Amino acid sequence: MTVAIVGAGLAGLTAATELAALGIDVVVFEARDRVGGRTHGVEVAPGQWADAGAAYLGSRHTELTALISRLGLATTPTSTEGQSRFSLRDGDPVTTDGRFPPVSAVALGELFDLLDEVTAAIRPDAPWESANAAALDAETVTEWVERSVRHADARLFFPLFLGEMMAADPDDISVLHMGFYLASGGGLQFLNAFEGGAQESRVDGGAHQIGELLAAKLGDRLRLSETVRSIAETDASVVLTTDGGTWDAEAVVVAIPPLLADAIEFHPAPPARSGSGVAPGCAIKVQLVYPSPLWRAEGLSGWSVSADGPLLSTVDDSPPGGVGVLTGFVTGAEAKRFGALTADRQRARVLAQTRRLFPSLPDPIGYHRTDWLNDPHSRGCYAALFGPGDWVATGPTLTTPHGRVHWAGTETSTEFFGLMEGAIRSGRRAAAEIAGTR
Ligand SMILES: Cc1cc2nc3c(=O)[nH]c(=O)nc-3n(C[C@H](O)[C@H](O)[C@H](O)COP(=O)(O)OP(=O)(O)OC[C@H]3O[C@@H](n4cnc5c(N)ncnc54)[C@H](O)[C@@H]3O)c2cc1C
Repeated sequence: MTVAIVGAGLAGLTAATELAALGIDVVVFEARDRVGGRTHGVEVAPGQWADAGAAYLGSRHTELTALISRLGLATTPTSTEGQSRFSLRDGDPVTTDGRFPPVSAVALGELFDLLDEVTAAIRPDAPWESANAAALDAETVTEWVERSVRHADARLFFPLFLGEMMAADPDDISVLHMGFYLASGGGLQFLNAFEGGAQESRVDGGAHQIGELLAAKLGDRLRLSETVRSIAETDASVVLTTDGGTWDAEAVVVAIPPLLADAIEFHPAPPARSGSGVAPGCAIKVQLVYPSPLWRAEGLSGWSVSADGPLLSTVDDSPPGGVGVLTGFVTGAEAKRFGALTADRQRARVLAQTRRLFPSLPDPIGYHRTDWLNDPHSRGCYAALFGPGDWVATGPTLTTPHGRVHWAGTETSTEFFGLMEGAIRSGRRAAAEIAGTR
Protein backbone atom coordinates (compact mmCIF):
# COMPACT_ATOMS: atom_id res chain seq x y z
CA MET A 1 0.00 0.00 0.00
CA THR A 2 0.90 3.61 -0.50
CA VAL A 3 1.97 6.49 1.72
CA ALA A 4 0.09 9.66 0.76
CA ILE A 5 1.76 13.04 1.11
CA VAL A 6 -0.31 16.22 1.34
CA GLY A 7 1.56 19.23 -0.09
CA ALA A 8 4.44 19.45 -2.59
CA GLY A 9 6.48 22.10 -0.82
CA LEU A 10 10.01 21.28 0.28
CA ALA A 11 8.73 19.32 3.30
CA GLY A 12 6.33 17.10 1.36
CA LEU A 13 8.73 16.56 -1.53
CA THR A 14 11.52 15.63 0.89
CA ALA A 15 9.30 13.14 2.73
CA ALA A 16 8.19 11.60 -0.59
CA THR A 17 11.77 11.38 -1.91
CA GLU A 18 13.05 9.73 1.29
CA LEU A 19 10.22 7.20 1.38
CA ALA A 20 10.54 6.41 -2.34
CA ALA A 21 14.27 5.82 -1.84
CA LEU A 22 13.34 3.12 0.70
CA GLY A 23 11.21 1.40 -1.93
CA ILE A 24 7.92 2.64 -0.43
CA ASP A 25 5.10 3.60 -2.84
CA VAL A 26 4.17 7.26 -2.50
CA VAL A 27 1.61 9.62 -4.00
CA VAL A 28 1.87 13.38 -3.46
CA PHE A 29 -1.22 15.61 -3.65
CA GLU A 30 -0.63 19.28 -4.36
CA ALA A 31 -3.40 21.92 -4.39
CA ARG A 32 -1.58 24.29 -6.76
CA ASP A 33 -0.74 23.66 -10.40
CA ARG A 34 2.95 23.87 -9.51
CA VAL A 35 5.30 22.42 -6.88
CA GLY A 36 7.53 24.28 -4.44
CA GLY A 37 4.93 26.00 -2.22
CA ARG A 38 6.59 28.99 -0.59
CA THR A 39 9.54 28.78 -3.00
CA HIS A 40 8.55 30.32 -6.30
CA GLY A 41 10.49 31.80 -9.24
CA VAL A 42 9.67 34.85 -11.36
CA GLU A 43 11.32 35.16 -14.77
CA VAL A 44 12.77 38.69 -14.71
CA ALA A 45 14.34 38.42 -18.19
CA PRO A 46 14.44 35.52 -20.66
CA GLY A 47 16.10 32.64 -18.81
CA GLN A 48 16.86 34.79 -15.73
CA TRP A 49 15.00 34.16 -12.50
CA ALA A 50 14.46 35.83 -9.15
CA ASP A 51 12.93 34.42 -5.98
CA ALA A 52 9.40 35.59 -5.28
CA GLY A 53 9.37 33.38 -2.19
CA ALA A 54 12.23 31.92 -0.15
CA ALA A 55 15.68 32.94 -1.35
CA TYR A 56 18.48 33.04 1.21
CA LEU A 57 20.52 30.40 2.97
CA GLY A 58 23.62 30.11 5.11
CA SER A 59 26.25 27.58 6.11
CA ARG A 60 24.28 26.22 9.08
CA HIS A 61 21.50 25.16 6.72
CA THR A 62 23.25 21.86 6.27
CA GLU A 63 20.37 19.73 4.93
CA LEU A 64 19.47 22.40 2.39
CA THR A 65 23.03 22.89 1.16
CA ALA A 66 23.51 19.12 0.87
CA LEU A 67 20.28 18.82 -1.13
CA ILE A 68 21.26 21.71 -3.41
CA SER A 69 24.53 20.03 -4.31
CA ARG A 70 22.91 16.56 -4.68
CA LEU A 71 20.55 18.10 -7.22
CA GLY A 72 23.47 19.62 -9.14
CA LEU A 73 22.47 23.22 -8.33
CA ALA A 74 24.91 25.97 -7.36
CA THR A 75 24.67 28.93 -4.99
CA THR A 76 25.69 32.52 -5.55
CA PRO A 77 26.74 34.93 -2.78
CA THR A 78 24.22 37.63 -1.92
CA SER A 79 25.69 40.91 -3.16
CA THR A 80 26.13 43.38 -0.29
CA GLU A 81 29.23 45.33 -1.28
CA GLY A 82 28.87 49.11 -1.19
CA GLN A 83 26.98 51.77 0.70
CA SER A 84 23.47 51.48 2.11
CA ARG A 85 20.55 53.89 2.00
CA PHE A 86 18.41 54.56 5.09
CA SER A 87 15.16 56.51 5.32
CA LEU A 88 14.30 56.26 8.99
CA ARG A 89 13.21 59.81 9.77
CA ASP A 90 11.69 62.83 8.01
CA GLY A 91 13.91 64.36 5.35
CA ASP A 92 16.05 62.91 2.60
CA PRO A 93 17.38 59.35 2.92
CA VAL A 94 20.97 59.09 4.15
CA THR A 95 23.84 57.05 2.76
CA THR A 96 26.05 55.04 5.11
CA ASP A 97 29.02 52.74 4.79
CA GLY A 98 28.07 49.10 5.39
CA ARG A 99 24.72 47.88 6.71
CA PHE A 100 24.76 49.49 10.16
CA PRO A 101 21.72 51.81 10.45
CA PRO A 102 22.19 55.49 11.37
CA VAL A 103 20.70 55.11 14.85
CA SER A 104 22.30 55.29 18.27
CA ALA A 105 24.77 52.41 18.69
CA VAL A 106 23.85 52.31 22.38
CA ALA A 107 20.16 51.90 21.49
CA LEU A 108 20.91 49.10 19.06
CA GLY A 109 23.26 47.40 21.52
CA GLU A 110 20.60 47.52 24.25
CA LEU A 111 17.96 46.15 21.88
CA PHE A 112 20.14 43.24 20.76
CA ASP A 113 21.07 42.46 24.38
CA LEU A 114 17.39 42.32 25.29
CA LEU A 115 16.66 40.03 22.34
CA ASP A 116 19.58 37.77 23.28
CA GLU A 117 18.18 37.60 26.83
CA VAL A 118 14.75 36.49 25.58
CA THR A 119 16.36 33.95 23.22
CA ALA A 120 18.50 32.47 26.00
CA ALA A 121 15.36 31.88 28.11
CA ILE A 122 13.79 29.59 25.49
CA ARG A 123 14.06 25.81 25.18
CA PRO A 124 14.32 25.57 21.39
CA ASP A 125 13.38 21.87 21.23
CA ALA A 126 10.18 22.44 23.27
CA PRO A 127 9.45 26.17 23.66
CA TRP A 128 6.25 25.47 25.63
CA GLU A 129 8.43 23.86 28.32
CA SER A 130 10.74 26.87 28.72
CA ALA A 131 10.99 28.25 32.23
CA ASN A 132 8.35 30.98 32.40
CA ALA A 133 6.73 29.74 29.15
CA ALA A 134 3.19 30.71 30.16
CA ALA A 135 4.17 34.32 30.91
CA LEU A 136 6.31 34.65 27.76
CA ASP A 137 3.48 33.19 25.69
CA ALA A 138 0.85 35.48 27.21
CA GLU A 139 2.50 38.74 26.17
CA THR A 140 2.56 40.22 22.65
CA VAL A 141 5.82 41.58 21.32
CA THR A 142 4.21 45.06 21.20
CA GLU A 143 3.57 44.82 24.95
CA TRP A 144 7.13 43.59 25.52
CA VAL A 145 8.56 46.58 23.60
CA GLU A 146 6.41 48.99 25.66
CA ARG A 147 7.68 47.39 28.86
CA SER A 148 11.33 46.73 28.04
CA VAL A 149 12.66 48.86 25.19
CA ARG A 150 13.50 52.33 26.46
CA HIS A 151 15.51 54.08 23.75
CA ALA A 152 13.52 55.93 21.03
CA ASP A 153 15.93 54.79 18.30
CA ALA A 154 15.49 51.16 19.33
CA ARG A 155 11.70 51.55 19.23
CA LEU A 156 11.98 53.11 15.77
CA PHE A 157 14.22 50.37 14.39
CA PHE A 158 12.70 47.30 16.06
CA PRO A 159 9.52 46.88 13.93
CA LEU A 160 11.63 47.16 10.75
CA PHE A 161 14.03 44.55 12.07
CA LEU A 162 11.19 42.18 13.06
CA GLY A 163 9.43 42.73 9.72
CA GLU A 164 12.57 41.94 7.77
CA MET A 165 13.52 38.90 9.87
CA MET A 166 10.11 37.27 10.52
CA ALA A 167 7.62 39.20 8.34
CA ALA A 168 5.78 39.78 11.59
CA ASP A 169 3.69 42.61 12.98
CA PRO A 170 4.72 42.86 16.68
CA ASP A 171 0.99 42.87 17.57
CA ASP A 172 0.58 39.38 16.09
CA ILE A 173 3.19 37.31 17.90
CA SER A 174 3.97 36.32 21.47
CA VAL A 175 7.33 36.96 23.10
CA LEU A 176 7.73 33.16 23.32
CA HIS A 177 7.33 32.87 19.54
CA MET A 178 9.86 35.63 18.83
CA GLY A 179 12.42 34.11 21.21
CA PHE A 180 11.79 30.61 19.83
CA TYR A 181 12.22 31.81 16.24
CA LEU A 182 15.55 33.42 17.11
CA ALA A 183 16.77 30.37 19.04
CA SER A 184 15.58 27.89 16.44
CA GLY A 185 17.20 29.83 13.60
CA GLY A 186 20.68 29.85 15.19
CA GLY A 187 20.49 33.09 17.19
CA LEU A 188 20.17 36.76 16.37
CA GLN A 189 23.69 37.25 14.97
CA PHE A 190 23.38 34.39 12.48
CA LEU A 191 19.80 35.17 11.45
CA ASN A 192 20.51 38.86 10.91
CA ALA A 193 23.73 38.51 8.93
CA PHE A 194 24.46 38.26 5.23
CA GLU A 195 28.15 37.30 5.19
CA GLY A 196 28.53 34.30 7.52
CA GLY A 197 24.81 34.36 8.31
CA ALA A 198 21.42 33.12 7.13
CA GLN A 199 21.36 35.45 4.09
CA GLU A 200 24.84 34.57 2.82
CA SER A 201 23.79 33.09 -0.52
CA ARG A 202 20.97 32.26 -2.91
CA VAL A 203 20.37 29.36 -5.27
CA ASP A 204 21.77 30.31 -8.66
CA GLY A 205 18.77 30.44 -10.98
CA GLY A 206 16.24 30.42 -8.14
CA ALA A 207 15.23 28.27 -5.15
CA HIS A 208 12.14 27.06 -7.04
CA GLN A 209 14.43 24.69 -8.96
CA ILE A 210 14.86 22.54 -5.83
CA GLY A 211 11.19 21.55 -5.82
CA GLU A 212 11.08 21.17 -9.59
CA LEU A 213 14.05 18.77 -9.62
CA LEU A 214 12.66 16.72 -6.72
CA ALA A 215 9.28 16.58 -8.48
CA ALA A 216 10.82 15.45 -11.77
CA LYS A 217 12.25 12.40 -9.99
CA LEU A 218 8.85 11.58 -8.50
CA GLY A 219 7.24 11.67 -11.97
CA ASP A 220 3.62 10.51 -12.06
CA ARG A 221 3.60 9.91 -8.31
CA LEU A 222 2.82 13.62 -8.09
CA ARG A 223 -0.77 14.86 -8.59
CA LEU A 224 -1.06 18.63 -9.15
CA SER A 225 -4.22 20.75 -8.74
CA GLU A 226 -5.63 18.14 -6.34
CA THR A 227 -6.51 19.60 -2.94
CA VAL A 228 -6.96 17.13 -0.09
CA ARG A 229 -10.31 17.86 1.59
CA SER A 230 -10.69 15.08 4.15
CA ILE A 231 -8.66 12.34 5.82
CA ALA A 232 -10.51 9.49 7.53
CA GLU A 233 -8.87 6.63 9.39
CA THR A 234 -10.33 3.12 9.32
CA ASP A 235 -9.03 0.02 11.12
CA ALA A 236 -6.90 -1.03 8.17
CA SER A 237 -6.04 2.15 6.29
CA VAL A 238 -6.63 5.82 5.88
CA VAL A 239 -8.90 7.26 3.20
CA LEU A 240 -8.18 10.62 1.59
CA THR A 241 -10.81 12.54 -0.30
CA THR A 242 -9.35 14.93 -2.86
CA ASP A 243 -10.81 17.04 -5.63
CA GLY A 244 -10.03 14.08 -7.91
CA GLY A 245 -11.58 11.21 -5.92
CA THR A 246 -10.82 8.94 -2.94
CA TRP A 247 -7.55 7.20 -2.17
CA ASP A 248 -6.60 4.43 0.24
CA ALA A 249 -3.23 4.77 1.95
CA GLU A 250 -1.28 3.01 4.64
CA ALA A 251 -0.20 6.31 6.21
CA VAL A 252 -0.32 10.03 5.45
CA VAL A 253 2.16 12.88 5.82
CA VAL A 254 0.39 16.23 6.09
CA ALA A 255 3.09 18.70 5.02
CA ILE A 256 1.25 22.03 4.99
CA PRO A 257 1.08 25.09 7.29
CA PRO A 258 -1.05 24.68 10.45
CA LEU A 259 -3.86 27.00 9.32
CA LEU A 260 -4.33 24.93 6.15
CA ALA A 261 -4.11 21.61 8.03
CA ASP A 262 -7.01 22.81 10.18
CA ALA A 263 -9.04 23.35 6.99
CA ILE A 264 -8.91 19.57 6.25
CA GLU A 265 -11.74 17.49 7.73
CA PHE A 266 -10.23 14.71 9.85
CA HIS A 267 -11.99 11.60 11.25
CA PRO A 268 -11.17 11.23 14.08
CA ALA A 269 -10.20 14.86 14.66
CA PRO A 270 -6.63 15.51 15.91
CA PRO A 271 -5.87 18.30 18.40
CA ALA A 272 -6.08 21.67 16.58
CA ARG A 273 -2.94 22.41 14.57
CA SER A 274 -3.21 26.17 15.10
CA GLY A 275 -4.19 28.14 18.17
CA SER A 276 -6.72 30.97 18.10
CA GLY A 277 -4.03 33.61 17.52
CA VAL A 278 -2.03 31.97 14.73
CA ALA A 279 -1.69 34.43 11.83
CA PRO A 280 -0.74 33.68 8.22
CA GLY A 281 2.23 36.06 8.14
CA CYS A 282 2.66 39.36 6.36
CA ALA A 283 4.98 39.21 3.38
CA ILE A 284 4.71 40.82 -0.04
CA LYS A 285 7.80 40.72 -2.26
CA VAL A 286 8.43 43.19 -5.07
CA GLN A 287 11.07 42.79 -7.78
CA LEU A 288 12.23 45.86 -9.71
CA VAL A 289 14.20 44.98 -12.84
CA TYR A 290 16.89 47.19 -14.46
CA PRO A 291 19.07 46.60 -17.53
CA SER A 292 21.96 45.84 -15.12
CA PRO A 293 22.68 46.47 -11.39
CA LEU A 294 23.06 50.22 -12.08
CA TRP A 295 23.40 51.18 -8.40
CA ARG A 296 26.73 49.35 -8.13
CA ALA A 297 28.41 51.95 -10.40
CA GLU A 298 27.58 54.58 -7.77
CA GLY A 299 29.09 52.50 -4.98
CA LEU A 300 25.69 51.48 -3.60
CA SER A 301 24.90 47.94 -2.50
CA GLY A 302 21.18 48.17 -3.22
CA TRP A 303 20.51 47.58 0.50
CA SER A 304 18.08 50.08 1.98
CA VAL A 305 15.85 50.29 5.03
CA SER A 306 12.88 52.67 5.26
CA ALA A 307 10.50 53.42 8.11
CA ASP A 308 7.93 55.00 5.79
CA GLY A 309 7.41 52.04 3.40
CA PRO A 310 6.00 50.46 1.46
CA LEU A 311 9.36 48.73 0.85
CA LEU A 312 10.78 48.37 4.35
CA SER A 313 14.00 47.05 2.88
CA THR A 314 15.58 46.41 -0.51
CA VAL A 315 18.39 44.06 -1.46
CA ASP A 316 20.38 43.37 -4.63
CA ASP A 317 19.09 40.05 -5.97
CA SER A 318 20.57 40.39 -9.46
CA PRO A 319 21.29 37.14 -11.28
CA PRO A 320 25.07 36.85 -11.82
CA GLY A 321 26.05 38.60 -15.05
CA GLY A 322 22.43 39.42 -15.90
CA VAL A 323 19.83 42.12 -15.42
CA GLY A 324 19.74 44.19 -12.23
CA VAL A 325 17.13 43.10 -9.67
CA LEU A 326 16.24 45.05 -6.56
CA THR A 327 14.00 42.97 -4.32
CA GLY A 328 11.78 44.97 -2.00
CA PHE A 329 10.18 43.53 1.14
CA VAL A 330 6.79 44.78 2.31
CA THR A 331 6.26 43.10 5.66
CA GLY A 332 4.49 43.29 9.02
CA ALA A 333 1.81 45.94 9.52
CA GLU A 334 2.90 47.71 6.30
CA ALA A 335 2.03 44.58 4.28
CA LYS A 336 -1.53 44.65 5.64
CA ARG A 337 -1.96 48.27 4.48
CA PHE A 338 -0.20 47.74 1.14
CA GLY A 339 -2.05 44.46 0.42
CA ALA A 340 -5.36 46.33 0.62
CA LEU A 341 -4.42 48.82 -2.17
CA THR A 342 -5.18 48.29 -5.86
CA ALA A 343 -2.30 46.91 -7.96
CA ASP A 344 -1.93 50.30 -9.72
CA ARG A 345 -1.75 52.17 -6.42
CA GLN A 346 0.79 49.68 -5.07
CA ARG A 347 3.01 50.12 -8.10
CA ALA A 348 2.78 53.93 -7.96
CA ARG A 349 3.79 53.91 -4.28
CA VAL A 350 6.71 51.54 -4.91
CA LEU A 351 8.03 53.62 -7.82
CA ALA A 352 7.69 56.90 -5.89
CA GLN A 353 9.64 55.41 -2.97
CA THR A 354 12.34 54.00 -5.23
CA ARG A 355 12.85 57.44 -6.83
CA ARG A 356 13.36 58.89 -3.33
CA LEU A 357 15.73 56.12 -2.24
CA PHE A 358 17.75 55.83 -5.44
CA PRO A 359 17.24 59.18 -7.26
CA SER A 360 19.70 58.46 -10.06
CA LEU A 361 18.05 55.17 -11.12
CA PRO A 362 15.74 55.27 -14.16
CA ASP A 363 12.31 53.71 -13.77
CA PRO A 364 12.60 49.91 -13.86
CA ILE A 365 12.06 47.95 -17.06
CA GLY A 366 10.21 45.23 -15.16
CA TYR A 367 8.00 45.09 -12.05
CA HIS A 368 6.80 41.95 -10.26
CA ARG A 369 4.77 41.75 -7.07
CA THR A 370 4.01 38.54 -5.18
CA ASP A 371 1.38 38.85 -2.46
CA TRP A 372 1.79 35.95 -0.05
CA LEU A 373 -0.44 37.61 2.52
CA ASN A 374 -3.55 36.98 0.45
CA ASP A 375 -2.47 33.64 -1.07
CA PRO A 376 -5.01 30.94 -0.05
CA HIS A 377 -2.49 28.11 -0.56
CA SER A 378 0.12 29.39 1.88
CA ARG A 379 -1.31 31.02 5.02
CA GLY A 380 2.13 31.22 6.58
CA CYS A 381 4.58 33.68 5.03
CA TYR A 382 7.42 33.63 5.62
CA ALA A 383 5.94 31.20 8.19
CA ALA A 384 2.89 30.98 10.46
CA LEU A 385 3.02 33.50 13.28
CA PHE A 386 2.13 32.11 16.70
CA GLY A 387 0.16 34.62 18.78
CA PRO A 388 -0.39 34.76 22.54
CA GLY A 389 -1.18 31.35 24.00
CA ASP A 390 -0.59 29.41 20.78
CA TRP A 391 2.68 27.66 21.63
CA VAL A 392 1.45 26.51 25.03
CA ALA A 393 -1.82 25.26 23.48
CA THR A 394 -0.53 23.56 20.32
CA GLY A 395 3.20 22.98 20.84
CA PRO A 396 2.97 19.69 22.75
CA THR A 397 1.07 17.91 19.93
CA LEU A 398 2.49 19.71 16.89
CA THR A 399 4.63 16.76 15.77
CA THR A 400 2.86 13.87 17.55
CA PRO A 401 1.49 11.41 14.96
CA HIS A 402 -2.31 11.06 15.09
CA GLY A 403 -2.88 7.39 14.30
CA ARG A 404 -1.70 6.95 10.71
CA VAL A 405 -1.37 10.69 10.17
CA HIS A 406 2.13 12.20 10.44
CA TRP A 407 2.96 15.90 10.39
CA ALA A 408 5.61 17.80 8.46
CA GLY A 409 6.12 21.35 7.19
CA THR A 410 8.51 24.02 8.38
CA GLU A 411 6.15 24.93 11.22
CA THR A 412 6.68 21.45 12.72
CA SER A 413 10.45 21.83 12.86
CA THR A 414 12.00 23.07 16.06
CA GLU A 415 15.27 23.48 14.13
CA PHE A 416 15.25 26.38 11.67
CA PHE A 417 11.48 26.85 12.07
CA GLY A 418 10.03 28.92 9.25
CA LEU A 419 12.93 28.38 6.88
CA MET A 420 13.59 26.05 3.93
CA GLU A 421 16.01 24.16 6.20
CA GLY A 422 13.22 23.54 8.72
CA ALA A 423 10.90 22.27 5.96
CA ILE A 424 13.49 19.74 4.75
CA ARG A 425 14.31 18.56 8.28
CA SER A 426 10.59 18.08 9.02
CA GLY A 427 10.13 16.01 5.85
CA ARG A 428 13.03 13.77 6.80
CA ARG A 429 11.66 13.33 10.34
CA ALA A 430 8.18 12.37 9.10
CA ALA A 431 9.64 9.88 6.58
CA ALA A 432 11.78 8.31 9.33
CA GLU A 433 8.72 7.98 11.59
CA ILE A 434 6.84 6.06 8.91
CA ALA A 435 9.84 3.93 7.91
CA GLY A 436 10.29 3.08 11.61
CA THR A 437 6.75 1.73 11.95
CA ARG A 438 7.08 -0.84 9.14
C1 LIG B 1 8.27 35.85 0.75
C2 LIG B 1 8.96 34.70 1.46
C3 LIG B 1 10.31 34.79 1.73
C4 LIG B 1 10.97 33.74 2.38
N1 LIG B 1 12.31 33.83 2.54
C5 LIG B 1 12.99 32.75 2.99
C6 LIG B 1 14.41 32.73 2.90
O1 LIG B 1 15.03 33.67 2.41
N2 LIG B 1 15.06 31.61 3.36
C7 LIG B 1 14.36 30.52 3.85
O2 LIG B 1 15.01 29.53 4.22
N3 LIG B 1 13.02 30.53 3.91
C8 LIG B 1 12.31 31.60 3.49
N4 LIG B 1 10.95 31.57 3.46
C9 LIG B 1 10.25 30.45 4.10
C10 LIG B 1 10.22 29.16 3.25
O3 LIG B 1 9.71 29.47 1.98
C11 LIG B 1 9.36 28.11 3.91
O4 LIG B 1 9.80 27.87 5.22
C12 LIG B 1 9.36 26.75 3.20
O5 LIG B 1 9.39 26.89 1.81
C13 LIG B 1 8.11 25.99 3.64
O6 LIG B 1 8.05 24.73 3.02
P1 LIG B 1 6.91 23.71 3.44
O7 LIG B 1 7.04 22.52 2.57
O8 LIG B 1 6.89 23.53 4.90
O9 LIG B 1 5.52 24.46 3.11
P2 LIG B 1 4.96 25.04 1.74
O10 LIG B 1 6.06 25.51 0.89
O11 LIG B 1 3.91 26.02 2.12
O12 LIG B 1 4.30 23.79 1.02
C14 LIG B 1 3.00 23.33 1.32
C15 LIG B 1 2.33 22.92 0.02
O13 LIG B 1 1.07 22.31 0.34
C16 LIG B 1 0.09 22.74 -0.61
N5 LIG B 1 -1.21 22.56 0.04
C17 LIG B 1 -1.76 23.30 1.02
N6 LIG B 1 -2.94 22.77 1.42
C18 LIG B 1 -3.14 21.64 0.67
C19 LIG B 1 -4.16 20.64 0.61
N7 LIG B 1 -5.23 20.66 1.42
N8 LIG B 1 -4.03 19.64 -0.31
C20 LIG B 1 -2.94 19.57 -1.12
N9 LIG B 1 -1.94 20.50 -1.10
C21 LIG B 1 -2.03 21.51 -0.21
C22 LIG B 1 0.47 24.18 -0.92
O14 LIG B 1 -0.04 24.61 -2.15
C23 LIG B 1 2.02 24.11 -0.90
O15 LIG B 1 2.52 23.85 -2.18
C24 LIG B 1 10.25 32.60 2.81
C25 LIG B 1 8.88 32.52 2.54
C26 LIG B 1 8.24 33.54 1.87
C27 LIG B 1 6.78 33.40 1.56
